Amino acid sequence: MKFSQKLLLWTTIIIALTLGFSGYYFVNYVFETSLEREAEQALDENSILRFAFETAALNVPVRYDMLPDGSVEQIAANLETGGQGTGRLLRICDEKRQTLYASDGFEADDALLGSAVEDQYAYRVIRAGDRYYIQTAGSVSALGRGLYLETLRDVSQVFEERETGFRVYRRLMILMLALGIAIMYFIASGLTKPIRLLMRATKKMAAGDYGYRAEQISSDELGLLTQDFNSMSEALERTIGQLEDEVQAREDFVGAFAHELKTPLTSIIGYADMLRSRKLDEEKSLLSANYIYTEGRRLETMSLRLLDIIVTKKDGAKLQKVPVASLFEYLRSMFLPNGSMEFVFDYEEAYVLADLSLIQTVLVNLLDNACKASEAGSRIEVSGCSESAGYRFTVRDFGIGIPQEELSKITQAFYMVDKSRSRSRNGAGLGLALCTEILRLHESRLEIASVPGEGTTVGFLLPEAGKEVCHEEEQA
Ligand code: ATP
Ligand code: MG
Repeated sequence: MKFSQKLLLWTTIIIALTLGFSGYYFVNYVFETSLEREAEQALDENSILRFAFETAALNVPVRYDMLPDGSVEQIAANLETGGQGTGRLLRICDEKRQTLYASDGFEADDALLGSAVEDQYAYRVIRAGDRYYIQTAGSVSALGRGLYLETLRDVSQVFEERETGFRVYRRLMILMLALGIAIMYFIASGLTKPIRLLMRATKKMAAGDYGYRAEQISSDELGLLTQDFNSMSEALERTIGQLEDEVQAREDFVGAFAHELKTPLTSIIGYADMLRSRKLDEEKSLLSANYIYTEGRRLETMSLRLLDIIVTKKDGAKLQKVPVASLFEYLRSMFLPNGSMEFVFDYEEAYVLADLSLIQTVLVNLLDNACKASEAGSRIEVSGCSESAGYRFTVRDFGIGIPQEELSKITQAFYMVDKSRSRSRNGAGLGLALCTEILRLHESRLEIASVPGEGTTVGFLLPEAGKEVCHEEEQA
């Protein structure tokens, strides 16, 4: 059963019970009050009649020393028709409870007379056929006799009114209940609407629509729940997006890796097959062996680079204070002996927070790329300067440059703008991927700007260690 239906059902039960009990109590209260009033009037009438009887008895001629039955009947008959209206029902009994006079239609036993003896008068409600009466009884003393006078007061109307009351109230209750149910239906469906909207959102999400958000229509607890649900969906969508990107990147990587492996292997197998199946002259044999060697070396470089990336990802970086001077000294010692390029090193003295060997790898890769992109004798500028955001390293060359649309791709593993050119320079397309991974561990990234035909500038920032600390370290 739906939550709104449960809400509706329970509210209906509660309304029905409340209306039922209160209605029953109200109608019954009115009935009892009316009945009490009728009883009081019946008792009043009884005592008036008794008084009238006793007064009439006093007028009976004195020759009797005890009121004769005939006089009793006469007085009773007078009392029955006297006063306002007719049809008064009364009965006179003697000391032995023998009926001396009874009105037509007075149908009641003499059980009440016992109570009347003790209390002077008494009453009870009796039913005769389909009518209800209040029977009263009171003792009368007249001319040496102890008689009983009983009356019957028709109170059927009070009972009818009670029945009418119940009937009217039942109809009213059904009407109010129907109205209540209709109102409650709208209230319940309004109250549960945020839940329905949330349910729809969860179903959509379960079906893979992670971008779907539940509509927030209130600011109460359910509204806050919707807000939290939407925040959770956003986080989930982000995470799933990242996971999908990662899976895609992995698939791309495996595809590119397989391709990069296949090309040199095909050549190696082809040349090796030629060497073993045919008798080649010395020059062709040397050429084939050379090709096998070069491609083998390329495969070796590639596997080492891949290993570097895997190890870097696994081991992470051990950050320490590294003097910038030592980095530049290292680059000088590596590249200056080359002599085929014009290197310009320019830097501000400072200390950076970095993993020494990893940052050396980054700088070597960037300089290597600059060399590969430049003509012999070309100028390559390597600089380091302190900025408010950190310490910036920049490698600038005046080589072939990179087309704008390729800039975002060159950091992907195995991506090379000009494959044949890069391969001819023993490139595997993994250098910048490795640099990106290393800088990620330093919470930094490569910033590449390039103009085809004019050159490329690649830079990155590293956190700078405080200068005071540097002096202390120098002194130490
Ligand atoms: P590896 O570094 O693995 O030996 P690689 O140098 O080809 O091979 P990356 O360093 O990842 O690989 O560079 C990817 C590609 O980006 C290069 O193949 C090249 O096409 C382009 N590239 C990188 N740096 C420069 C640069 N300074 N000038 C022009 N092109 C560049
Ligand atoms: Mg490279």
